[in-house]
Amino acid sequence: TMAHSKGLLVLENFIAGKFVPCSSYIDSYNPSTGDVYCRVPDSGKEEVDAAVKAAKAAFPIWSSKSPLERSQILNKLADLIEHDLEAFAQAESKDQGKTITFARTVDIPRAVYNFRFFASSILHHTTECTEMATMGCVHYTSRTPVGVAGLISPWNLPLYLLTWKIAPAIACGNTVVAKPSEMTSVTAWMMCKLLEKAGVPHGVVNVVFGTGAKAGEALVCHPDVPLISFTGSTLTAQRITEKSAPHCKRLSLELGGKNPAIIFEDADLSQCIPTTLRSSFANQGEICLCTSRIFVQRGIYSEFLKTFVAEAKKWKVGNPSDPTVNMGALISKEHLEKVRSYVKKAQAEGAKVLCGEGVDSLALPTGNQKGYFMLPTVIAEVKDESCCMQEEIFGPVTCVVAFDTEEEVIERANGVKYGLAATVWSSDVGRVHRVAQRLQSGLVWTNCWLIRDLNLPFGGMKASGIGREGAKDSYEFFTEVKTITIKH
Ligand code: NAD
Repeated sequence: TMAHSKGLLVLENFIAGKFVPCSSYIDSYNPSTGDVYCRVPDSGKEEVDAAVKAAKAAFPIWSSKSPLERSQILNKLADLIEHDLEAFAQAESKDQGKTITFARTVDIPRAVYNFRFFASSILHHTTECTEMATMGCVHYTSRTPVGVAGLISPWNLPLYLLTWKIAPAIACGNTVVAKPSEMTSVTAWMMCKLLEKAGVPHGVVNVVFGTGAKAGEALVCHPDVPLISFTGSTLTAQRITEKSAPHCKRLSLELGGKNPAIIFEDADLSQCIPTTLRSSFANQGEICLCTSRIFVQRGIYSEFLKTFVAEAKKWKVGNPSDPTVNMGALISKEHLEKVRSYVKKAQAEGAKVLCGEGVDSLALPTGNQKGYFMLPTVIAEVKDESCCMQEEIFGPVTCVVAFDTEEEVIERANGVKYGLAATVWSSDVGRVHRVAQRLQSGLVWTNCWLIRDLNLPFGGMKASGIGREGAKDSYEFFTEVKTITIKH
C-alpha cells in the first residue's frame, strides 16, 4: 500500500481496515526544506460517510469485547509502534519540522505510552453503588461506550496527540473516525499499517485525511458521530461548537494558551533558567503548554534577563535531523510569517527585541535555506495590553516583564482570555501554594515544567478549553453512564 508518484509519498485513507485512494489530494511540505514531499487525501463528506459507516458496523463487536481483550490489543499496538520507533521518529521530524531528538524522546515514546497507559487504566475502573436499606433498594451505575467517536488533532504533536484520543476511545469500546491535521498526516497513516497485526478489527479505527473545512466539518456535522474530541485552536473550537450544536454532541475541547511563568526572587535560577528556556522554545515554541509571558520579580529581573538571553543565543537552530540542533523548522511558511509579524508589532509598539528575529543572523545549512526557520526570540519592555502579551503566538517568541508583588503578578498572569498552564518558581512552599490556588489555569507546575501523570486531569480553563482528559476524565468522556435501581 506504499504508493509513490513522481517520488512523492502518497497517503491513502484507512477505512474498514483497507487503504483507499481519494479522488483529490493536497500537497504536504517538508518544513525544513520548503519542498513538497507528500500528497495527502483531500477527503470530504463522501469519505467521511464511508468511514463513519465502517465505524458503526464495527461497534457491536468491538464494544462487546471484554476490557481485558481490548487491553491486550492496545498493548500489542504499543509494542508494534515501539518496534518501529526510529522510523516513526524520522517521519514525524520530516513532516513537522521538529528535531529528530524531540521526536525520538518525546513524541513517539509518548504515543507508545498512551496505548500502554489506557490498556492498563481500562482494567481498573469501578462504578458507584449506594444502598437505601429502608426502601429495600440498591442503586448502581453502569458505563458503556458511546458509539462512533470523532477525533480531530493538530499539527504540533501529531501522533502524540492523536493517540492520546484514539487510545482511551477504543479502550472504552468505542470505534473511531480520526482526522489528523492535513499538515502532519504521515505518522497516523503509518500507524494504520500496524492495526491489523495488532489485532484491531476492521472498522474500529478509521482515519480520514484532509482539511478542517472539508473533512473535519463533515465529521463534526455527521449525525452518527455523537462525540467529538478536538485539540486545536480556540477559533476552530468555536466553529465546531456551532456546527455540532444542532446535534447536541458531546465535546471535549483542548485549546490554546498564553502561559505565564512567574519567577520570584527566591527562585533557584540554576533550575529555573534552563527549564524556562525549554518551556519557551521546546518544539519551536509549538506546544500548547509553552511559556510565552515571563514575569520576573524586580530584584532579580536584570540578572535573569541577562542570563536568559545569553543562554537563548546558544540555542542551535537548523537541520532537524542534526542531533546537535535544539530547534528545527516551524510548521509552514504562513505560520512563520505570522510568528514574525508579532515580533514586528512588538517593535512598532516600542518593545525591545533582545535576541533572535531581526537582531541576530541565522546561518542555515545549504539544504535548509528554504526551510521555515527562526531564532529563539526574547522580547522585553512590552506592555501587558500588547498583542504579544495577550494572543497565542505559538512559536519561539517569549516576553519578559518585571513585577513587584505577589498580588500584582497573580492579577496580571490572569489578565488574558486563556487559562491552560502556568509555572511558578519560588522556594517558599506557602507562596507556591497560595499562587497556584489563585491562578486561572488548568495546570500549574511549580519549580518544573511538563511533568505529567496521565492519571490526573489535563485541560484548560476559560478560552483554553472545555472538559479534561486523563485516566478518569477520558473514561467518563468516552462512556455513557446509567443509574440503575433494584428493589427487592
Ligand atoms: P487548528 O484549530 O487550526 O486545527 C486543529 C485541527 O482541526 C486540524 O486537524 C484541522 O484540520 C481541524 N479543523 C480546522 N478547522 C476545522 C473545522 N471547521 N471543523 C473541523 N475541524 C477543523 O489548530 P492547529 O493550528 O492545527 O494547532 C495549533 C493550536 O492547537 C494552537 O492553538 C494550540 O495551542 C492548540 N493545541 C492545544 C493543545 C491542548 O491540549 N490544549 C495541544 C496542542 C495544540
